[in-house]
Amino acid sequence: MRGAVLHAPGDVRLDTRDDPRIEHPTDAIIRIAATCVCGSDLWPYRGIEAVDGPAPMGHEYVGIVEEAGADVTILKPGQFVVGSFFASDNTCEICQAGYQSRCVHAELMGAIGTQAEYARIPLADGTLVATPAMPDQKFVPSLLAASDVLGTGWFAAVAAAVAPGKTVAVVGDGAVGLLGVLAARELGAERIIAFSRHESRQKLARELGATDIVTERGDDGAARVKDLTGGLGAHCVIEAVGTQESMMQAIRSTRPGGHVGYVGVSHDVTLPGDELFFSAVHLHGGPAPVRRFLPDLIDRILTGAIDPGTVFDLTLPLDQVAEGYKAMDERRAIKTLLQP
Ligand SMILES: [Zn+2]
Repeated sequence: MRGAVLHAPGDVRLDTRDDPRIEHPTDAIIRIAATCVCGSDLWPYRGIEAVDGPAPMGHEYVGIVEEAGADVTILKPGQFVVGSFFASDNTCEICQAGYQSRCVHAELMGAIGTQAEYARIPLADGTLVATPAMPDQKFVPSLLAASDVLGTGWFAAVAAAVAPGKTVAVVGDGAVGLLGVLAARELGAERIIAFSRHESRQKLARELGATDIVTERGDDGAARVKDLTGGLGAHCVIEAVGTQESMMQAIRSTRPGGHVGYVGVSHDVTLPGDELFFSAVHLHGGPAPVRRFLPDLIDRILTGAIDPGTVFDLTLPLDQVAEGYKAMDERRAIKTLLQP
């Protein structure tokens, strides 16, 4: 089969890879219907994260079950499925508590690489959620968004304790931040302040539910949020970047007693204990347990309540994967959808 492989920073290619096969009786093989490039794929692409030899890429996916292992009892070949970037058994104590991304048997899908024609999905019954019927083609981008960016933005909003009447600030105008705006709207936020200095992203943020745009970042951005909230700060802040500046911007935008939901993959973030102590904010985040939210998100998409697929502003055939990465790296595209 063909699949994307990162050879070195800036060098991603569509190579011939081994066809995946059932390795454990709990595996399934899916034919990928759509996949995409994640903001986190850009860390190794930019050389900020080490590239460990030629590495298969991609961890977001929707597809059709081709083959199911002997111990797969819930899923059937032919079903359309959505999965998350962590395989999980969905039965252990951690999964049952809703933290499937930290399942005791978790496996990172990025190591398998879903920017490909086919993929092996470990722990298929726990990892994958089937749609009730074969979805109309128009829903595929939104279902793909549920696989990571929507699920992650949703978790960030839940971790930030978004609820009706709350004021929410969102740090990060990538796909996760933008869908954090959508999640905040769906969870009833009264006011949603999006940090963005890019006109096209500001526009999309407003379409997804942002009521205010702040173009300043860092401490100036946090000060602007305080100005907009009577000097108090937001009740709920979503952090969707993962840098020192963005994390401090999030904490400093939050009022005492408020909540920060952080989902940007942390890169060299160090929190000052004294400031954290006196901030009196709740911090909760990490790799989003997308699997927890998938049944609800699939339902909201298929009933037309939400349309998160609008974050894909570039669609390319899989063989143009290199251009898909380049466009996101140069911020010409918010998010690239790839069609095998
Ligand atoms: Zn588990």
